[in-house]
Amino acid sequence: MSCSTSAPGGSTRNSRTTERYEGLLDDIFDEKMVPDDFSMYLHAPTRTDPGMAPPGCESMYVLIPVANNRSGVDWSEMGPRFADKVMDYLEEWGLEDLREMTDVLHVFTPDDFETELNATWGNAFAIEPTLFQTAWFRPQNRSEDIEGLYLVGAGTHPGAGVPGVILSAETTYGCIAADHGLEDQWDWDEPASVALDAELEDRVVAALG
Ligand SMILES: Cc1cc2nc3c(=O)[nH]c(=O)nc-3n(C[C@H](O)[C@H](O)[C@H](O)COP(=O)(O)OP(=O)(O)OC[C@H]3O[C@@H](n4cnc5c(N)ncnc54)[C@H](O)[C@@H]3O)c2cc1C
Repeated sequence: MSCSTSAPGGSTRNSRTTERYEGLLDDIFDEKMVPDDFSMYLHAPTRTDPGMAPPGCESMYVLIPVANNRSGVDWSEMGPRFADKVMDYLEEWGLEDLREMTDVLHVFTPDDFETELNATWGNAFAIEPTLFQTAWFRPQNRSEDIEGLYLVGAGTHPGAGVPGVILSAETTYGCIAADHGLEDQWDWDEPASVALDAELEDRVVAALG
């Protein structure tokens, strides 16, 4: 949202958790329901980068964990209602007159993750990072089922989050390089330093078909 009011506290990142934190997670992950209470992460990037909104305005996003689309929730109906509840909460918390001061409000629900980003069940973070689906246990960067297929991104080894995804890109490149005799193009001491010359790039493209 973009508005001309500020979150209390003045920090860029705020977390607000409900008192029954564990129960809330059970409701979301096991019961696949949208409970009345919620925990949230509020990010106000304008605190450190004023260029994220016009002068005198604040841009903020609120991230609230909800069940994925196996819940059967109708987000076309629930989305606006839920956003309203969040606005109430934020106004009570200290963002006075938030509604009046909001110029742009964009609500992104699991439906949007599913339809806009093609995310399975509208998941925001790919497969759940349980112990046996984390790091090495995540789908490997070199497909274990189809020769010549390579996987990259949040749903693969080592995992989600921008640093994990960048590492996954490096690892996937390492697999491709090893499989096609291009190890010398990989400098493990210099992360993200790969720069194929044009001839090698042609070879990689040809090798990958
Ligand atoms: C609300 C939110 C906040 C986050 N905050 C942080 C944070 O503070 N720090 C952090 O490190 N991480 C954060 N993350 C996680 C991080 O954003 C992701 O882990 C990361 O962006 C995943 O990168 P990716 O390249 O694997 O996938 P994505 O960035 O999701 O990119 C995949 C792309 O592929 C496209 N696509 C899908 N299917 C097809 C198809 N068939 N053909 C063509 N294109 C297709 C999608 O549209 C999408 O553009 C956050 C995630 C969310 C949802």
